[in-house]
Parts: sequence; C-alpha cells; structure tokens
Amino acid sequence: MGWAIAIHGGAGAILESLTDSHRAAVEEALPKLTEVGAAMLKAGACALDVVEQATVALEECELFQAGRGSVLSAAGTHELEASIMDGLTGSAGAACGLRTVRNPVCLARQILERTTHVFIAGRGAEDLAKAWDLERVPNEWFTTDRRLNQLRRHLATPERSRPYPETVGAVACDMEGRVAAATSTGGTTGKLPGRIGDAPLINAGTWADERVAVSCTGIGENFVRAGTARMVAARVELLGESIEQASVACVQSMPPESGGLIAVDCHGNVSLPFTSQGMYRGWETQAGTRGIGIGAI
Ligand code: ASP
Repeated sequence: MGWAIAIHGGAGAILESLTDSHRAAVEEALPKLTEVGAAMLKAGACALDVVEQATVALEECELFQAGRGSVLSAAGTHELEASIMDGLTGSAGAACGLRTVRNPVCLARQILERTTHVFIAGRGAEDLAKAWDLERVPNEWFTTDRRLNQLRRHLATPERSRPYPETVGAVACDMEGRVAAATSTGGTTGKLPGRIGDAPLINAGTWADERVAVSCTGIGENFVRAGTARMVAARVELLGESIEQASVACVQSMPPESGGLIAVDCHGNVSLPFTSQGMYRGWETQAGTRGIGIGAI
C-alpha cells in the first residue's frame, strides 16, 4: 500500500484551554509539520530518517511541548527526554534528564548509531551531546511565557490542574515497508525533578519492529505501567489483530483519559486512537488519505 506518516503533538485535556488563536496556529502548523515527513517519504527516504526529522520539526515548533516550548518542572527548569527506534534492525536510542540539548531526538538517534547502549541519562547524555557536537543551548532557552504561566497555575492549584500535554512524536512506513518511531517531550508540568515519563522508554512510549511502529502521548505513568507501545505490537504479532484493532484495544484498556497514540504498520495503514479530550495529530499516506485533528472529529 506504500508509505505513510503520522505525527502527534500531544494528547490530554487540550480542549478546555484551547483559545481560538492557539487553535488557528495549531491548525496552520499541523499540515506543514506532517508534510516534513511526507515529502521525505515521497523522495524515498528511510523511515528512521523520516521520524527523526519529523520530530526535529515538532521540537522546533514552540506550539508543542518538546524542545523550545517544553513544560517546566516543579524546580522551574527543563528536563527533556526522547527516544527513537528502527523497526528494520530493532535498534533503539534514548536519553533523559537533558538540560541543554536543543534537539533531544537527535541525541537519541546518535546513541542508537554510535553506542552499544539504548538509554543514557543526565550528565552522561549531556557529555555525549557535547562530544558529538550536537547543538546545545542554555536551559532558559526552552522557556516560553505560555509554559511559565502553566507552571504558575499548576503550582497554585496542583491537586486540581491536569497535566499540560503536547509531547510530540512521529511514526513512518517508508516505500520499502520499513517502519520507525520517535517521541520527544519535556515531560509534565510541575513534575518532580528527576521524574522520567514514558516518552524516552522503549516499550512504553516508543516501539518499532518489522511490523508496526508506535509513539504514545498522555499521562506517562499509565503508559509505563501498561508497556503500551510494545503491547500494540504484541497484539498485532501474537493475536493477528490489525493495527487499528490493536491500537484501540490498548488505549481503551488503560485508565480513562490516559491519552492516545499514533501507529503505523508495514503496509502503510495508520491508526490514531485516543481516550482523552483530544490529541493534536496529522497523517498522510501514499494510498491517498491525509488529515489533521485536534478533538474527536
Ligand atoms: N507522556 C508524557 C509524559 O508523561 C506527556 C505527554 O505525552 O504529554 O511525560
């Protein structure tokens, strides 16, 4: 069926705080961000390169919660995390506790390419970014007024505020039927310093194998407990379910309003289910389907 790309910009209680101007900005950005990966796929790029570059574009977009525009921890600082996985080789890279790496997904990719490890945290990951000449910026560079206001509101009413999502991710199937997935985030607003979510965890927030690729978003702790991304792939492999059946079953088996995921299979089928109010998303396939969405419709 050919190539396919899906991206997400986070799932959660996004509608209650969605202003008209923010909606307009997101609706303008999502098709362009989807096109970053679609254009690469049309030109014959491999799925791994596509999900990395699609995620870089999302990290660079301040509207979404990864790279600049990431949420702040309870200490008022940014701790970024990302992961990437190649379905063809089964190789993966991930990093967390990043304070200065402008594009965390690029560090994850380099960990995949250059080390025998999968997951590197904190100081060691920062040192690798420096050694490999990846672009680094001061921690304050990631801060926007919008995220500062969210942190202030959260700290004023922590028991009532819901997490501000908008984590980003991409999944792709290339012309050869190879799939890959990537996820990148600042975590959750007001998180405890040192908290790690699902986004950098292979099996929980990100997974790719020879059949499917998955990137998750939402309340990370629920995805960690469920091993959601890998579970989608396991259902396809062991139960013979379609990507849509497996994806829907996995999000529905989690606590209500946990969030959502994007998934693609090696035939170019795409699934984008969520149980939260909404999920920022975009997709395009060689078979001719394309679109963007925020809420249920
Ligand atoms: N899953 C992310 C986390 O818990 C947040 C999100 O997807 O918005 O860190």
